[in-house]
Amino acid sequence: MIEIVQKDDPVLRQKATEVAISEITSPRIRKILADMKEALASQEDGVALAAPQIGVPLRIFIVAGFALTEELQESKDRPDDLVFINPTITKLSKDKAELEEGCLSVRHFYGKTLRSKKATARAYNEKGEIFQRGGSGLLAQIFQHETDHLDGILFIDHAKEVQKVDIIK
Ligand code: ZN
Repeated sequence: MIEIVQKDDPVLRQKATEVAISEITSPRIRKILADMKEALASQEDGVALAAPQIGVPLRIFIVAGFALTEELQESKDRPDDLVFINPTITKLSKDKAELEEGCLSVRHFYGKTLRSKKATARAYNEKGEIFQRGGSGLLAQIFQHETDHLDGILFIDHAKEVQKVDIIK
């Protein structure tokens, strides 16, 4: 099982480095992507994961396929995760909303963050092709949360009303 590092790990506080374009399809990056997908799939409440969260300081994040559209949430199969390599946010709406937020690396803490309602990210996919994807709501929030991870920022740095929520089993 791939371990998801927790908030006091220094890897979460460093600025992640870009992946060389020529390296995107290399076995090393393929293995990192496979590990990230495995780690994300192991968390039933996980919607996205950044590479530093598995201890790899590279600019990569993935988004669970079911978080991408409303219709897919209805489907029972686990759709493919979407891969963002060297992502940059190209657009952020001025219009913001206060949203509930948590993080797989800040286990059991939740708080309220102010996030742009819409965001567009440009990145390379795992084939090394550049693409752009716009999103609103949860997807826009994910883009902002995950690119923050790549710059060493955690949501608890700016969230309000952070509380520990104990999971009752
Ligand atoms: Zn996170």
